[in-house]
Amino acid sequence: MQTIAHWLDGKAFAGTSEATAAVTNPATGVVTGQVALANVADTRAAIDSAADAFPAWRDTSLARRTQILFRFRELLNERKEELAGLITAEHGKVLADAMGEVSRGLEVVEFACGVPHLLKGGYTENASTKVDIFSIRQPLGPVAVISPFNFPAMVPMWFFPLAIAAGNTVVLKPSEKDPSASLWLAALWDEAGLPAGVFNVVQGDKVAVDELLDNPAIKAVSFVGSTPIAQYVYQRGTAAGKRVQALGGAKNHMVVLPDADLDLAADAAVNAGFGSAGERCMAISVVVAVGGAAEELVGKIAERAATIKTGDGTRDADMGPLVTRAHRDRVAEYIAAGESAGARVVLDGRGIAADGADDGFWLGPTILDHVGTDMSVYTDEIFGPVLSVVRVDSYDDALALINANPYGNGTAIFTNDGGAARRFHNEVEVGMVGINVPIPVPMSYYSFGGWKNSLFGDSHAHGADGVHFFTRGKAVTTRWLDPSHGGLNLGFPENK
Ligand code: NAD
Repeated sequence: MQTIAHWLDGKAFAGTSEATAAVTNPATGVVTGQVALANVADTRAAIDSAADAFPAWRDTSLARRTQILFRFRELLNERKEELAGLITAEHGKVLADAMGEVSRGLEVVEFACGVPHLLKGGYTENASTKVDIFSIRQPLGPVAVISPFNFPAMVPMWFFPLAIAAGNTVVLKPSEKDPSASLWLAALWDEAGLPAGVFNVVQGDKVAVDELLDNPAIKAVSFVGSTPIAQYVYQRGTAAGKRVQALGGAKNHMVVLPDADLDLAADAAVNAGFGSAGERCMAISVVVAVGGAAEELVGKIAERAATIKTGDGTRDADMGPLVTRAHRDRVAEYIAAGESAGARVVLDGRGIAADGADDGFWLGPTILDHVGTDMSVYTDEIFGPVLSVVRVDSYDDALALINANPYGNGTAIFTNDGGAARRFHNEVEVGMVGINVPIPVPMSYYSFGGWKNSLFGDSHAHGADGVHFFTRGKAVTTRWLDPSHGGLNLGFPENK
């Protein structure tokens, strides 16, 4: 049984807390380790490590910083299978999906390798007579990243490559459900030559999070997780005077217009609904079937979903288990609630025979048709392999449904009508939109983020927003000695 502890000052740190939580392999139900849960002193030790490392890292040249980033990128690319294996063992997603997660995180590292260009400021010569102005962006200091269970490598990598590249130091607080990926990444940074203390990991729960939110040494917080915790983190962090971006939960709708290619739409609904067992914040959880397309579409989706092989992610499965037994049971309860509220169960994943151990947290693909917007299966984020189909009469009804939803993370429309697609991307109140693309996760050089209850704060992750979030601007006005500008003038400076 392994113990999974913290990482600070360039090495593993056991911590002083006695508290631990079990880490389980969801495909077997076997407890594989105990993760340390930091107390306040352990969390402060990680913060101190980041604070001590900051002055030297801030003054490290961009040339040196990018050399380390390139080295980190090379090492990660060489060893991504190792990291994917760790993810599968604690999260449960199939290996190919874990590899996809690592690749999407790697893209942000690659984006951060261009940081010298991203940090370039502006320069204005002779703004007033012989007065020049330039702008620079400087790092904030030690920053915290608090991440969810569903992407133990990619979500932290949405933030820390850019934070580090920009000259900040980092304390990462990963999910206690799958904590090993973070330590693996910390050791990789060390190998890449990152100075001790620039990247730290504190394992833990609310105790560690609250200290990160309250401690004045932490200047900014990037959080990803469920909406109630995102809102809490945003409120507590900003009340402590910090910059906070807190990404929350989702309920992503996929609209299928009657003119769409229904085979393409059915493939997309199945891939985006059941990939990673629906435990993605960009998973499609609601198909909005417009008009006459509904019956045929549901048939095509069900036909495809029935072929999905659920099983151990290290074997030849399409879909793995859910992350914990409690979560699997909760998702199954939602299916039962939907059924008793009048939804039609087209495909039932409960009691599925999975290709894996008997004690794995299995639940097969489930499709509920004729779902009403008052049913809990529609109103709540379920985060499991459950696809609800809501039938509506028109495009306007579909749009109204999405815009009335409290979440606004991702959405998609399937149609062959360019005018309808254009109207949709213009009118829909959602942060990330796909047109004939079901999971429109933006590339690293764009920014990732939802609207409404899917994001608290005004900065999205990575891309231009990420650079902006991890730096603060300074404008410098200069005048070099010129006798013509001598003399007293107590008025407010005017440009001449
Ligand atoms: P979670 O909110 O339970 O946990 C997220 C983080 O917060 C973890 O590190 C956890 O330890 C910490 N935490 C949990 N309870 C806390 C509390 N009471 N006080 C302080 N900290 C606390 O989320 P999860 O179950 O790990 O992840 C799934 C959720 O994350 C889903 O809602 C999903 O939609 C969301 N998510 C959103 C995005 C996005 O980009 N918007 C991306 C991935 C996941």
